[in-house]
Amino acid sequence: MTWHRINPLAKAELPDIEIWPDLHVTVKCRKCGIRTGPEGMINDPDKGVVCPKCGKKAKMTQCSAEQAFFYWFCVPGCTPVSDPCGPYTSETEALDSARAFVADLD
Ligand SMILES: [Zn+2]
Repeated sequence: MTWHRINPLAKAELPDIEIWPDLHVTVKCRKCGIRTGPEGMINDPDKGVVCPKCGKKAKMTQCSAEQAFFYWFCVPGCTPVSDPCGPYTSETEALDSARAFVADLD
């Protein structure tokens, strides 16, 4: 996992974007339907496969063989405040997407 800043020029601030590589998984949830997300958040070691939206048990229908990249926004230097976004083919693509999302809000 690597940390980045939304504003790369704000060197004094703590990082607020976290990017990590993971497998891209598709699950089928009885309540939410087809959902996708990073394998690390869907295949829980204690609960098994869970829906990334509601957290209930789900059935894995597809798992990519290649690593993808995901990001989420965080309280600077701390816990995430958004759902995971992705998949992206590279860390650079994920970071560019995160910064473009914020730029669109301004
Ligand atoms: Zn669900």
